[in-house]
Amino acid sequence: MSVNIAIDGPAGAGKSTIAKKIAKKLGYIYVDTGAMYRAMALYLLREHIAPSDTDGINEKCAEADISIGYENGEQIVYLNGENVNGLIRTEEVGNMASVSSPNPNVRKKMVELQHKLAASKDVVMDGRDIGTCVLPHAQVKVYLTADSRVRAERRYKELADKGIASDLDTIEKDIIERDHQDMTRELSPLRQAEDATLIDSSYMTIDEVVEAVIALVSD
Ligand code: C5P
Repeated sequence: MSVNIAIDGPAGAGKSTIAKKIAKKLGYIYVDTGAMYRAMALYLLREHIAPSDTDGINEKCAEADISIGYENGEQIVYLNGENVNGLIRTEEVGNMASVSSPNPNVRKKMVELQHKLAASKDVVMDGRDIGTCVLPHAQVKVYLTADSRVRAERRYKELADKGIASDLDTIEKDIIERDHQDMTRELSPLRQAEDATLIDSSYMTIDEVVEAVIALVSD
């Protein structure tokens, strides 16, 4: 049976950084489910669908074929065959992902793909509903969070490192809005699974968090 590690938590908590490192250490596959929702959001933006246009989202999401591949250990997301990794990390796409992800048709499609990946391989999968809905039987579940200001500072630094200027208060406001949107939606809201371990990474280093999760695997 394949081993599944589920990592959920709010925007900017460091899930992907941590999950990638754990996957590398353990020789598992890293599955970034947020990237799938982002690829769908990119498609909807390209099609000029408004976030409030439920019929439009239902219709267009059927046309978007999203798949995952790996190159040198890195996850590549394909949107109708196009590698969109370089296009999905903007705030615009992130915000559209947050407003389109509550749509049942979007979620159904993404969860099917996630089930397929986890059934056949040892995976570290991160997202919002992995421990609660997608992989309820995951052997290890972590709810990774951090103070919203700390998360905003991390994102600000990430952007600055790429030479992109941004405003810290705006980033924090966006993060709080997205958390609210993700936590209060009807379908698969972001919440800590009852059997998940809570890790607050506000004052922890990346390596400390990685070690804390790996300790849970070997328990
Ligand atoms: O993690 P990331 O910021 O890339 O996710 C973008 C958006 O995709 C989230 O704000 C959330 O609305 C949605 N998402 C989701 N379920 C997941 C992963 C992401 O609804 N498992």
